[in-house]
Formats: sequence, structure tokens, C-alpha cells
Amino acid sequence: MNTGPVYYSKYTGISILFIISLLAITIGYQQIYWPWWAVTVPVVIYLLFIAIGSFFICFNFYFTSVCKIKTTEKKIAITFDDGPHQEITPKLLEILKRHELPATFFWTGENISRNKNIVKEANKQDHLIGNHSYSHSPRFDLFSHRKMIAEIEATTKEIERIIQKRPLLFRPPYGVTNPMLAKALQHTGLISIGWSLRSFDTVNSPEKVLKKLKKKTRPGDIILFHDTRENTPGIIEKYAGWLKENGFEVVSLKNLLNIDGYEEI
Ligand SMILES: [Zn+2]
Repeated sequence: MNTGPVYYSKYTGISILFIISLLAITIGYQQIYWPWWAVTVPVVIYLLFIAIGSFFICFNFYFTSVCKIKTTEKKIAITFDDGPHQEITPKLLEILKRHELPATFFWTGENISRNKNIVKEANKQDHLIGNHSYSHSPRFDLFSHRKMIAEIEATTKEIERIIQKRPLLFRPPYGVTNPMLAKALQHTGLISIGWSLRSFDTVNSPEKVLKKLKKKTRPGDIILFHDTRENTPGIIEKYAGWLKENGFEVVSLKNLLNIDGYEEI
């Protein structure tokens, strides 16, 4: 599949249109009468695009993220963010092993450095490990591209030190994207992975999460969970049973996307 990053595509186009419309309005002000608020129209539209583009990763506004694949085969991939967590991730690994479910973990460098044995175990079980920044700072989106690169590279080094593999996949913290991250990904060459179905396991009750998953799971989905939430292992236990009963196969992201998942070193 084509996972080649396309940087600044929609963002560049919208920005050029915005500048042209501002110029046109400025000229219009000099030639004929325009209502005073005319200039607010392109400004509001532009800001709306920026907001949607930043908060909806699959809008692919600043760069391309893989959010799902088109298929009629009932195969899906499951992903877990924010760990490894000292207690929850091992519980999850046990459930995944018992149900023979391959998963992808997008982990932070900080948690990786504190839980090396869990990283080794996940790798031993053939789960894929991806990069989710080093600190997962709430201010990550305000970082310069240089600081983002430093975070991404520090996490990659941490993973490489433990499992001797360089991750190729990256999930943006909070799923927020911007031009600085586009630059950082261009520099590091990582592939951005979004999601097509968000479990909301961080906020909703297990019953509500499962109800949504059962209703919304579709072929080719990439599903987002967190291995830092107490309820998540129980949710996966029940979801695994439902998937099997309903003929869904959980495959690794590397199979779903037909990529290796790690860089050659
Ligand atoms: Zn996260």
C-alpha cells in the first residue's frame, strides 16, 4: 500500500487560497464598497480548517496518516497507546497471548525506559512497538520541530536499545497534528498511524465501550485503546470473544498495511 507521506498537501492549498482571498478583499476595499466584515469570512473559514485539520488526524491536513484500509475481509488491527504500564500492560499481554491476538503498542520513551522487561516480553510475543513521543507532554503540539525530532529520536533509541529494532510507526500524542510535526516526521521518516475507531476506554464505562465497539467495528479498522487504563484488559477479554463469534480476525498492523513495521538497521 502507499504509505508514502505527503506533506503540507491540504494545508498548503488552503493557505494559498486564504492569502489570495485576503489580497482580493484588500483590492476590493480600495475599488468598491465592501461591508467591513467581509474580511472576517475567509479568516473564519481558514481558522475552521486549521482547527479541523489539527484535531482530526484522518483529515490528513498537514500530512498523511494511515487510519484504516479498504477491504471486504473481516480483518482489523488493535492498537494500545501510552504505556507500557507496570501492571496493566502485563495483564493485557497475557490476554492477547491467550486469545492469539497480535497488537501494536504506541509507547512513550519515558515509560519504555521504566519498563524494559515489558517491552522485551511484548516483542517476544511478536507484538509491534511504535513511537508515541518521549514525554507525551500536554504541550507537545507547541514544541518546535527540533524539539519534536529530539523526542521522537530519543524514544526510537530507547526501543532500539531494548529490542534491537528501529520502529517505523508513529502515533501523534493526543492525535493532534500541525506543521511542526509534519516537519519532524519528514525528518525522521516515520509513518503516522491514526485510527478509524476510538474505543474511548479512557473516559467511558466498559459496558459503553463494548457497546460502541460491537456496533461500529468494520473490516479494515484500526482500533485505538490505552494500556494505561484499569478497565482495558477486561474490555479486550470480552471484545476478543465477540470478534471471534462474529468472524473478525485480528491481524498485526504490519499485515493489515503490508509493511514491516521496523526500519532496517
Ligand atoms: Zn497518547
